[in-house]
Amino acid sequence: MEFTKFKLNKQLLQAVSQAGYRQPTPVQEKVIPLITAGHDVMGIAQTGTGKTASFLLPVLKKVGYAQGASPRVLILAPTRELVTQLYQETIKLSQYTDIRSLAVYGGIGPKDQIQALEQGTDIILATPGRFLDLYGRGCIPVKTLKTLVLDEADKMMDMGFMPQIRSILEVIPLKRQNLLFSATMPSSVIELSEEFLEFPQKVEISPSATTAETVKQFAYHLPNLKTKINLLHHLLTNTKAFNKVIVFVRTKKTADNIYKYLVRSTEGEVRVIHSNKGQNTRINSLNAFKNGEVRVLVSTDVAARGIDASMVSHVINFEVPVVYEDYVHRIGRTGRAEHPGIAITFYDPSEAYHLKKIEKLIKQQIDRHPVPPEVIIEKTSFKEQQIINRAIDRQRQIEDPTFQGAFHKKQKGRSKRRFGNRK
Ligand code: AMP
Repeated sequence: MEFTKFKLNKQLLQAVSQAGYRQPTPVQEKVIPLITAGHDVMGIAQTGTGKTASFLLPVLKKVGYAQGASPRVLILAPTRELVTQLYQETIKLSQYTDIRSLAVYGGIGPKDQIQALEQGTDIILATPGRFLDLYGRGCIPVKTLKTLVLDEADKMMDMGFMPQIRSILEVIPLKRQNLLFSATMPSSVIELSEEFLEFPQKVEISPSATTAETVKQFAYHLPNLKTKINLLHHLLTNTKAFNKVIVFVRTKKTADNIYKYLVRSTEGEVRVIHSNKGQNTRINSLNAFKNGEVRVLVSTDVAARGIDASMVSHVINFEVPVVYEDYVHRIGRTGRAEHPGIAITFYDPSEAYHLKKIEKLIKQQIDRHPVPPEVIIEKTSFKEQQIINRAIDRQRQIEDPTFQGAFHKKQKGRSKRRFGNRK
């Protein structure tokens, strides 16, 4: 087995083999030896690349076995879902050792977590806020911490966790190994890495390479929302191929509408997750989706970020994301590690612009497929056409600030007349 070259102990190799990992992914090839050698590491890699195991395996190797009551590793992640997921991965990979791990996060009362901390642990996985809360109550001994991992650092920055992270850095020992992982590298993450990493070794797994290797991507050009729904319905009737599907939308409202439609019209269990759903509902839906009880999960970008649901058969972008990096995150849900996946994007005339930008970002042409003949092409309503035209005008203006859109001209003319009448 190729993992043997990392000189992991046999309990870890057994867990790797049990997890079905046959060979290390590119990020693991690079990161495992660096962490083992004691370096600080900055890893730019998305979920789906195997980045979690790339830090967990060498960290577990370093921890070795259960010892004392105080934790030696702190792993921070931005959301409860991500902490839970990291925790599950830690349990999976440490199952043949006696290493103890504990997940602490907000959204529920701290009592059980405090009790669990009193039992002693080797690894703490936490959201920054809850960690500080428990530390403030004197429940977390920090003197023994030797490794700090920040996972999904870009999302932590987006969510405004910088002050909490600074406070945490102030209370933990200076002498420690630091590992930072992020899907993207905005200036906030660079700033964070400068504050927090010492002579880091940088490993970057390019998103285009990751998406290109394992995900088949194509797109359908559709005139309007109703036709999009017809195509979605048509695709989902193929229950055999489309057995584990995430449908991505831009807004909570669309998420709810699509969900309601699918519940009525599609075979198999459907769930929806977005930020208005309670934490527990979200976790339950995600777990049910992971276990295969739910066939179709409708989600917004925020809710699904970083979530690993292995073996997703299809990602359907019902709407093109306007934050272009979200496209990479979305399609990263399928084709994870070694399993091939399919990502399908629906776009209307106002979204063609964004799709082009995405192609530029991923340095790849996305194939356009003709709409299947069974799908009814609906007529675009006057209102929807207006919204589309307005969006196209705006895009043209962004590209060429002197451009006066047809729509805007008309508006101007009308308002002038109105003013004229009033006078
Ligand atoms: P991650 O990028 O850490 O979210 O990992 C994505 C998925 O790939 C998870 O389901 C892992 O269990 C799986 N995985 C991690 N490493 C490997 C590997 N070497 N071979 C196959 N699957 C892996």
